[in-house]
Amino acid sequence: MTETTSNSVNFLSAPFPWQGAQWTQLSRAFAASVLAHAYLFSGSEGLGKSLFADGFARYLLCLNPIAQNTVGRLADTDVACGTCKNCLKGGVGNHPDILTIEPEQGSKNIKIDQIRWLSEFVIRSSHSGGAKVAIIANAHLLNTNAANALLKTLEEPNSNTHVFLVSDHPGRLVATIRSRCQKLAFQAPRADIAAPWLQAIIGAGNVGSILEASDMRPLIALQLAQGDSLQARAQFLQSICDVKKGKKSIQQVLALIAKNGESEVLQHFSAFLSKLTKYSLTGIQENEGDPTLQSMYTLLVPSKEKSLAQAVASSLALFYTEVETARRQLASSTNPNPQLIMESILWQWSKLNLHS
Ligand SMILES: [Zn+2]
Repeated sequence: MTETTSNSVNFLSAPFPWQGAQWTQLSRAFAASVLAHAYLFSGSEGLGKSLFADGFARYLLCLNPIAQNTVGRLADTDVACGTCKNCLKGGVGNHPDILTIEPEQGSKNIKIDQIRWLSEFVIRSSHSGGAKVAIIANAHLLNTNAANALLKTLEEPNSNTHVFLVSDHPGRLVATIRSRCQKLAFQAPRADIAAPWLQAIIGAGNVGSILEASDMRPLIALQLAQGDSLQARAQFLQSICDVKKGKKSIQQVLALIAKNGESEVLQHFSAFLSKLTKYSLTGIQENEGDPTLQSMYTLLVPSKEKSLAQAVASSLALFYTEVETARRQLASSTNPNPQLIMESILWQWSKLNLHS
């Protein structure tokens, strides 16, 4: 699952309620004519970073920005009007002064040809006479040649042209590119900010537990709420619980995973493991309202002996890094074998000692 610039959310021109600080910071820089040539927008998947980049690009090109009042925190800043000729072009994603680059369909990398295209875009003059913005979504997927080509472009900035790199995994970008960009980090919102937003979109439903299941990443929560992912997650977590209790075989779980997709289940596994690790150390159960997680906690009896609890926590933490490595392997472009990777993870899970 990667962050995209469209589909599930109709993002017109304003930032999400949890992006007010970032928006204010950039719009102030723009107003003071000190907006940097290149930015790196980083943070977990599902926080709407690409949509922010897109919305801010449209704001930079807007001929008649308007004050944003609907989100109280942004009362002192402007957003794109949505009605001027530049906004209308940008609204359908084809403004000639906004270029968005991401891996092409069926590819796991951003290739050098795409960056050559970007380099040409950067040096040519603006169609509308104003700013130009190039957005690189999933920038950590630049292949080596593409990264080298981008570096050259970043070293020769063109006035009034901005490059926004967006990444869930900024650490995977080469250091020379990172050092050329101003950093802008996005954090998961607090529940009191994310919950009203989600509630307004989905109406009925247990917004609190959906947000918990998404690890407070609102756009993931929205996908969970709108699809049958929430049910798939419950089914997967229950099945790994059954493996641990000897009620299900690894083969049975593999069949279920093949149906739901490896990356998605590993994401749930990883989020669950970090909660279980915390529980083993503190005895505090997060997500008490979530019945799936509640049954998972019964796998583990937290020890009153501190050293034993720490031993369990560190084997959980070690296993967590294995799951994270598996997620990276699945996302890599070197033809991973999903079934083999999952089988190894489930085998390690079945052997993991959770009893202190
Ligand atoms: Zn406008």
